[in-house]
Amino acid sequence: AKAAGQGGFSLYSPDAHERARQRVRLVSDLREALEHNRLELAWQPQFGLDNRRVTGFEALARWQRDDGRPISPAEFIPLAEQSGLIAQLGRWVIDTATAEAKALLQARPELEQARFALNLSPYQLDDSLPKILTDGLAAAGLPAGALEVEITESALFADQERVTETLNAIGSTGVRLAVDDFGTGYSNIARLKLLPIHRLKLDRSLITDLEHDHSDREIVRALLAMAEALGLDVVAEGVETQAQATFLAQAGCPQAQGYLYARPQPLEPLLTWLRG
Ligand code: C2E
Ligand code: CA
Ligand code: CA
Ligand code: CA
Repeated sequence: AKAAGQGGFSLYSPDAHERARQRVRLVSDLREALEHNRLELAWQPQFGLDNRRVTGFEALARWQRDDGRPISPAEFIPLAEQSGLIAQLGRWVIDTATAEAKALLQARPELEQARFALNLSPYQLDDSLPKILTDGLAAAGLPAGALEVEITESALFADQERVTETLNAIGSTGVRLAVDDFGTGYSNIARLKLLPIHRLKLDRSLITDLEHDHSDREIVRALLAMAEALGLDVVAEGVETQAQATFLAQAGCPQAQGYLYARPQPLEPLLTWLRG
């Protein structure tokens, strides 16, 4: 074995070894959590900026390890992608989100017009995905038009041919498509026009400094104008302050999502919150 610190052989250093060990452990815990149905969804409501009415919900995956420690999806989703667990995790999200959306609609029929969004990993975008979605909808008894799938702007521009085929197939099922983390730098209007997209989600990084950053305000105005020209719906993500909400409403942004309004929460507390 090579000594730690010897240039080029850091793979053998105790630190790297320990990190690799922890990763393997995390992957096996994630596999087990999936097998025993121990992941959860948290739902974050979205609101009309003019009237503060709920217009939809986004499902976000949650995982607590056996020791009670929550692991962020920003950590376990990439791990699932790298370890091949993402197909199983993605299917669990689809089946669970459709079932919970149906339960929510049964409890609150007046939310009939609401859209239920879930996040897709680019690794899920293959031939089998449209059927996984329609199977989940059929099992839950949820109409396709109630479901929205979010795919990041960066994923839209990678591997274009395969992505285009899959998104067109999803579009023809009636499921709606939203571009997540929009405005972070990949946009190509010609490509946006070619895809069956319904909605843009303005990335939180554009919203955070709206109050202080003149150029962010101008970028948001320009993106809203572009969305309008393309006939796309828009939701601003990560809205935390009233000043941000006020600017967005005045700029004509139709919807918002963020801690100012509500945090993501599991179905049961969400139902209680909706009754409140
Ligand atoms: P995302 O899809 O961009 O989701 C928005 C993230 O911002 C969520 O973090 C949400 O809890 C958080 N957020 C919402 N409002 C606010 C706010 O006002 N301020 C701030 N600072 N944050 C806010 P979360 O739940 O930790 O998820 C992180 C990322 O993990 C997601 O980013 C998404 O990329 C990924 N992810 C989560 N669930 C899933 C899933 O089921 N499947 C896939 N493929 N990815 C997922
Ligand atoms: Ca999202
Ligand atoms: Ca996002
Ligand atoms: Ca994000």
